[in-house]
Amino acid sequence: MLLATVASLVALTTTVGAKRTVWSQAVVPASGSASAIGSYTAGCVRGAKALPLSGKGYEVMRPERKRYFGHPELLSVIQDLGKTLLAAKHGPILVGDLGQAKGGPSPRGHASHQSGLDVDIWFWHPRIAERRTLTRRERRKTPNHRVVDPKKLEYTKYWSDDVPAMIFAAAADARVSRVLVNPLIKKHLCETKGTKRKLLRKIRPWYGHADHMHVRLHCPKGNRHCVPQDEVPKGDGCSDLEWWLSPKAKKDRKKGKKQYLSNVGAVPLLPDQCQELVR
Ligand SMILES: [Zn+2]
Repeated sequence: MLLATVASLVALTTTVGAKRTVWSQAVVPASGSASAIGSYTAGCVRGAKALPLSGKGYEVMRPERKRYFGHPELLSVIQDLGKTLLAAKHGPILVGDLGQAKGGPSPRGHASHQSGLDVDIWFWHPRIAERRTLTRRERRKTPNHRVVDPKKLEYTKYWSDDVPAMIFAAAADARVSRVLVNPLIKKHLCETKGTKRKLLRKIRPWYGHADHMHVRLHCPKGNRHCVPQDEVPKGDGCSDLEWWLSPKAKKDRKKGKKQYLSNVGAVPLLPDQCQELVR
């Protein structure tokens, strides 16, 4: 009995391991018309495109991770954001992970980024990126920097006007459903005079996100297998920050973070349409 259990456990681990590698080893997108399938945390993408490593106002970082694929609509949001911020002298933006060629769960780093609709964008960029495109080595080695220190509740020396500008520019795009940032950053935006209060609703506080913002798109039109996330609660969300930033809620936050981290690297049950992509 015990042996049987051990054997079935081994079998289970093997399937799970194999599934994970199937997604992370795919380097060619699944052919067909562009379609985000499933949810952001349990999904995949058909007809993804590779974001060119350099473009007007943006540079792709860590290309060796092969997570520069996304739904064409995501590529166009990034390219538009790059152009807007370059014109406003806040560029270029450095682009971190989008998703894998066929989307799906990644072995480490993210619970979401699975359906081709999520991207991480760095808050900081080195001055050199304003003058020329980055070399392959620079894309691999340039460190990212936190613009706030969540433990000390302070801004770091890497904070600049670029940060609010890029967050608001991303939130202003109608295709974007949420922008996740560190609660301390949202606090700054809530307190900034002249802020477009309406945009604050989309800007959500989340664990980490002190060195990058996570931009998430709505389900693109006509993608009928795409599962949207619950709508963001009404209001600017500025009063939620009390929970995020008060020492009293620390224990609660730790519990929440543990739960969140347990989803990172877990293999979710994917929709049948995803299984077809890796058969
Ligand atoms: Zn992210």
